[in-house]
Amino acid sequence: MNKKNNPKIKVTVPHMGNLYIVVSSLIKSLGGEMIIPPTTSKKTLSLGTKHSPESICLPYKLLLGNYIEAIEHGAEAVIMISSPGICRLGEYSRSIKNALDDLGYKAKYIDLDLYKGKFMEMLHCIKSVTGNTNVVDIARGLILAFNKIFVLDNMDNILSYYRAREFETGTAEKAFNKSLKWIDQASSRKELKEANIEAVREIQKTEIDENREVLNVDLTGEIFMVLDPFSNQHIERELGSLGVQTKRSMNLSGWLKTAIIPKFLRKGETHLERAFRFAKPYLLRDIGGDAIESISDVAYATSKGVDGLIHVSPFTCMPEIVSQNIFPRMKQDGVLPILALVLDEQTGRAGFVTRLEAFVDLMKRRKRLVAAGMA
Ligand code: SF4
Repeated sequence: MNKKNNPKIKVTVPHMGNLYIVVSSLIKSLGGEMIIPPTTSKKTLSLGTKHSPESICLPYKLLLGNYIEAIEHGAEAVIMISSPGICRLGEYSRSIKNALDDLGYKAKYIDLDLYKGKFMEMLHCIKSVTGNTNVVDIARGLILAFNKIFVLDNMDNILSYYRAREFETGTAEKAFNKSLKWIDQASSRKELKEANIEAVREIQKTEIDENREVLNVDLTGEIFMVLDPFSNQHIERELGSLGVQTKRSMNLSGWLKTAIIPKFLRKGETHLERAFRFAKPYLLRDIGGDAIESISDVAYATSKGVDGLIHVSPFTCMPEIVSQNIFPRMKQDGVLPILALVLDEQTGRAGFVTRLEAFVDLMKRRKRLVAAGMA
C-alpha cells in the first residue's frame, strides 16, 4: 500500500438505497475511513429543508441533510457525484458546497464529476481520500465494490419476490436486512461469494404462499426517488404487503454500466441504451434527469405485459413533469395502468397508502377482465 503523498481522511457519501455499502467497501478495502451518515430520517429532512432554497427538489434537501449529519459525526470530506445536468442537477454540487460553507463546515468538498473523465476522475477521488495510490489495490477494491452492486441488486429482486408472497409481513425484509451485514462485511471476492449464497438462503427461508395472486409492477421515475426508501415512503415494502412484486430497471447496476464501466468491457445493452431505443417514438432528446429512462420504462413495461407501472418523482422536478405529460399519449399505444406519484416532504402517509391500495384494486380488476377476455 503506497501512502506516501496523501494522508487518508474520513469521508462520507449521502444515502441512496444501499449505495453506502458499495462505497464503504471500496474505501475500507483501500485502508481509508468512511463515515456513514445516520439512516435518513425526519431529522435529516428537516435539517436539509432548513438550509435549502424552498422550491428545490426533495433529493437535494435529503443529500444536504445527510452531509450535515455525517459532518456532525466526524466526516472530514464529502463526495458529491455531479453531472452537467440540464435540470437543477447541474447546479446541485455548487449549491451544496455553498450551503456547507455558509454553515461554517470545514469539510473538504470533493466534486466527483463522472461525466468529465469517468474512470480517471474516480481514480483521482479514491486516491485523494484513502491515500492509497497502489493501482493493484485500487483495481481489487473496485472489482469487489462493483460485484457488491450486482449482488445487492439481485438480493433486491429476491426480496421483492418473497415479500409479495410471505405469510407473515416483514419476514423477508428482516432476513434481507440481516444478510446486508454479511455483504457489507465481505472483504474479498471469495467472502462475497459465500455471503451471497448465505444471504439468498436466508431470504429463501421465508415461508410463502405460492398460490397467492401476485401482481407484477415496474417502478420508474427520478432515480434517487426510485432507489431511496425514505423519499419514496418505502413504496416497495408497502406494495409487497399488498401482494405486489416490484421490479425496477433503474438500479445501481444499471448506473454502474452506464456511468462507470467502459463500453468495451460491457456485455449487452445498458438501461440507457435501451431507454433511447424505446423512448424514440415519444421523446427524441435528453431533457435532463431520468426522463428518457422513465418514458422508455413505460414503453418497455407495456411491451412486457406487466400488470402496471408506478412512476415516482419529486415535486417540481422538471424532467419528470415532462414525462408525466407524455404518459397519456403513450396510453393510446397500450393499456398499461400507470400511477404517477409526485412526492415531497408534505406528502401524508395515509393518502399515499390509499392511492397505492386503489391502484392495486384497479390492476386486479383489470387482470380479471383480461383473463375473462373482457378487456
Ligand atoms: S431530475 Fe428532478 S429531482 Fe433530480 S435534480 Fe433534476 S429536477 Fe431535481
